[in-house]
Amino acid sequence: MHRALFIIDVQNDFTEGGALGVEGGNAVAAGIARLLAGHPEAYDLVIASRDWHDADNDNGGHFAGVEGPDFVDTWPVHCVAGTPGAAYHDDLAGVRIDFHVHKGQGEPAYSIYEGTTEEGATVHDLLDQHAVTEIDIVGLATDYCVRASALDAIEHGRRVRVLTDLIAGVAAESSAAALAELAHAGAELVLSESAGDSAGDGDAAHDVDAGGTRGVEGTGAAEGTGAAEGTSTAEARA
Ligand SMILES: [Zn+2]
Repeated sequence: MHRALFIIDVQNDFTEGGALGVEGGNAVAAGIARLLAGHPEAYDLVIASRDWHDADNDNGGHFAGVEGPDFVDTWPVHCVAGTPGAAYHDDLAGVRIDFHVHKGQGEPAYSIYEGTTEEGATVHDLLDQHAVTEIDIVGLATDYCVRASALDAIEHGRRVRVLTDLIAGVAAESSAAALAELAHAGAELVLSESAGDSAGDGDAAHDVDAGGTRGVEGTGAAEGTGAAEGTSTAEARA
């Protein structure tokens, strides 16, 4: 198996002080940087999306008109392509990102699957090319773009984990509803700490000896359920 990390829309406009900043956004950015620094081998592929709207139109009704935003279907102007608000949060500056996906040019686009790279590749293309079957998802916002991206990944047949300490939402109620919906759809909700430990891939035997909690690829026993089974395999061998 190969595992990818989706970093959804960790942009200045979606973090504190931005045009559409969500509470906890800065902490999410810092936490993602920590996750990747602490577990550089955990992911075969890191794909980050950015909302990337046109400046000269309302992007298919996504930007609110004179009546003002409803914060469900219409929003304040945000993430206009090429502006500081559309840039990645500063904490991602040193983070490894293998592919950059833009979405929302002239239209509402909540899921990373609606975007493409500069070269025109879709996320689906990238995952197929790299034989990715497992996806961890982090970023902003829980109740919109994280939700939509996770649902699409599940629909495309991938095993999905949402790292619940590395997401933040627009509103508490809709975020809780989104997580319940994702769990019902088959996503696993886990903390990033256990995700990093179970995401090791390639030097499994060493990892088990060293830490005892990583998933063991290729033995059969540990494939399929992530952290918990990795632990039991390690115990069985001890
Ligand atoms: Zn948008």
